[in-house]
Amino acid sequence: MSRTAVFFDPLYLEHDNGFGHPERPERLEVTLQVLRSTGLADRVSVLSPRDATVEEIELVHPGRYINVVKDAAAAGGGWLDADTHVSPRSYDAALRSAGAALEGLERIFAGETDNAFCLARPPGHHATATRGMGFCLFNNNAVASRFAMEKYGVERIFILDWDAHHGNGIQDIFYEDDRVLYVSLHQYPHYPGSGSYQETGRGRGEGYTVNFPLPARTGEDVYLAAFDEVIIPLARKYRPQLVLISAGYDAHFNDPLCSMLLKATSYAEMASRLKSLAEEVCEGRMMAALEGGYDLDGIARSIANTISVFAGEDLRLEDEGVLGGGVPPSARGRDIVEATRRAISPFWEI
Ligand SMILES: [Zn+2]
Repeated sequence: MSRTAVFFDPLYLEHDNGFGHPERPERLEVTLQVLRSTGLADRVSVLSPRDATVEEIELVHPGRYINVVKDAAAAGGGWLDADTHVSPRSYDAALRSAGAALEGLERIFAGETDNAFCLARPPGHHATATRGMGFCLFNNNAVASRFAMEKYGVERIFILDWDAHHGNGIQDIFYEDDRVLYVSLHQYPHYPGSGSYQETGRGRGEGYTVNFPLPARTGEDVYLAAFDEVIIPLARKYRPQLVLISAGYDAHFNDPLCSMLLKATSYAEMASRLKSLAEEVCEGRMMAALEGGYDLDGIARSIANTISVFAGEDLRLEDEGVLGGGVPPSARGRDIVEATRRAISPFWEI
């Protein structure tokens, strides 16, 4: 058994992208219902987090950009780009969304919890230092990473991003930084367009960005091969002091925005590999921040399975429906895993 903190706050439901937008409050509401109906909510600590301060957000984002979000909210709302909305409560929700990640780290480093899951929105991994995009306002895991460096002197952070979109914001912020090993598995080509396996970092960060640009219809077998053959051996060599997950659930086979073939139980498989890694190299210190994922049943079951692994249980909720409509998965992902391994082999012996 492990002690797991799950951060949620009703303020997250007030970030309003408008009718018909896939990044909607129901994502969290349905997930909470599943956490309660399975009894999982009683076996973890569900906590309302603190807000991040402006100074903490400034660890990543310049004040000029923070004010763009703040002013848009104060003016009654507006659009940062064609799909990234700021509503009157979005600025406050974004501070509390980042705050969950910061309080998660505080509680982990204080020994009050073993790991944490931030059931928060707005999400973060597309936000660059100076620009909100892809439904993301502040980059929660990037802010958490800088906070861990500043407050706890952490020098090696492993961020695993299993959202089906490339986390261009995290990559961009740490592209020249060896204190973050950023690994992303994502559908490619797809939004936001970045994340080829040739993108491996620059300068001091060379070799510390690792991308798996997987074809549509990639299934669990390829994801787990990437973990077992590349990601976990690589992370063992890096020996992170902290494991962060950019936990998006849009690689689920029912997701309306993406075309990957993961199941709810696939997330338990990936989470258990990361938990074992964290226990092996950094006393179990692990935190996940929610990113995307837009099929309500798919995301709720997948998150419950993730949190169950965090807590040391094995809930393994299964999906209803036929995986991928019965069309077979793409086999080409195997070649991409090998291409990624080759792309980083000049920097790592794996
Ligand atoms: Zn996504």
